Amino acid sequence: MKLILLGPPGSGKGTVAERLARERHFIPISMGEILREEVNKGTSLGQEIKKYIEKGNLVPDQLAVEMIKLAVGKKNHFILDGFPRTVEQAKKIAGLRIALVIYLDVTEKVILERLAGRRVCQKGEHIYHLQNLPPKKRGICDHDGSKLIQRKDDQPQVIKERLKVYQQKAKLLIEFYRKKSILSTVDGSLEPKEVYEEVVRRLGKKIK
Ligand code: AMP
Repeated sequence: MKLILLGPPGSGKGTVAERLARERHFIPISMGEILREEVNKGTSLGQEIKKYIEKGNLVPDQLAVEMIKLAVGKKNHFILDGFPRTVEQAKKIAGLRIALVIYLDVTEKVILERLAGRRVCQKGEHIYHLQNLPPKKRGICDHDGSKLIQRKDDQPQVIKERLKVYQQKAKLLIEFYRKKSILSTVDGSLEPKEVYEEVVRRLGKKIK
């Protein structure tokens, strides 16, 4: 099944994707992760990308589309997390024939609380929250034992810019998928466990 997770930064897309991967064998494809990996490689492309991410801006559509297409390849059971973020990007992957778009709807207040408390492991794959989803051992990832850190773009000033950028584009994107009748909205302000269970129910409805 080909799935898209939509929602503002901090809506829980990464957390849902991580669990769907573990329990339902979806291949998680996170645009943010792919971009951060390129930055960490220190390539000249990575240095370009870094400038956008650090300011909380989107990388150009064409670059994002090329990178996501490379990552998707011939896979057919995957979740796109953080892609598309613009209608232009959505149009360019129409050929993938996405089955379902889950939109995690959350208020700005919840987002700000979540992002301020979000911590990720150094491998960048596992996500925690100081209050809502703490690791078993403080500051250490439950899954791979690496140290937990705060993403640079989770600092308050960058968060504000990321939300502004998101809000400008999101309404159009949500409308785009609503018109295609593949949009399913889930209340993303619930507890992580409840959000996940609701997402799985929506998947079930689509599969039947
Ligand atoms: P995320 O981890 O999804 O919050 O993404 C982190 C950052 O990567 C964003 O703030 C953007 O700078 C960039 N980014 C992620 N996804 C996209 C996308 N689909 N198009 C353009 N830029 C993106």
